[in-house]
Amino acid sequence: MAFGNDHPHLRWVALDSSKRPNPASPVVVLHSSATFATTHLEVQDLQPVGERLLNLAATPLGQWLARPAWIQVHRWRYGLVNQPLQRPTLSSPTIPNLLACGDWCGGNGVDAAISSGQAAAAQIGQWLKSRPRG
Ligand SMILES: Cc1cc2nc3c(=O)[nH]c(=O)nc-3n(C[C@H](O)[C@H](O)[C@H](O)COP(=O)(O)OP(=O)(O)OC[C@H]3O[C@@H](n4cnc5c(N)ncnc54)[C@H](O)[C@@H]3O)c2cc1C
Repeated sequence: MAFGNDHPHLRWVALDSSKRPNPASPVVVLHSSATFATTHLEVQDLQPVGERLLNLAATPLGQWLARPAWIQVHRWRYGLVNQPLQRPTLSSPTIPNLLACGDWCGGNGVDAAISSGQAAAAQIGQWLKSRPRG
């Protein structure tokens, strides 16, 4: 996985096929920067946009990236959290058994989503233990 860091167009590039045992062929996933995605969000034909990203990645990573056997481009309109909540869950003392959790609680990726889900489960568990039985 290669991170774009401050690259204006590329957020990261990953060898997605490495997630599976015995992949038939290499599969590469490229995520553009949010600025690049916003600029191209309403473009009708996404194929040239994907080709441009591949060409941008090919320069530092290898020219074979610019010659894919197959390419698919997705819009990911609500992909990134702009302003994460600085708490693991969203809750209200008036309705303690209703909790909101997700990647927007404390971060913007799957690690934040998992931590937030675990925090929500712990809070619900606490509520179940403390509520009066009857
Ligand atoms: C293509 C792609 C690649 C990604 N790659 C990475 C990666 O490599 N690393 C990383 O850290 N993160 C990655 N992410 C981000 C990661 O998937 C998210 O951060 C994570 O899934 C967020 O988890 P979540 O539980 O907060 O939300 P989600 O996974 O979005 O779950 C929300 C759930 O709520 C359901 N829902 C929505 N509205 C309603 C409704 N009204 N009623 C009932 N159900 C509803 C949805 O169907 C969904 O099941 C990627 C995301 C995408 C799209």
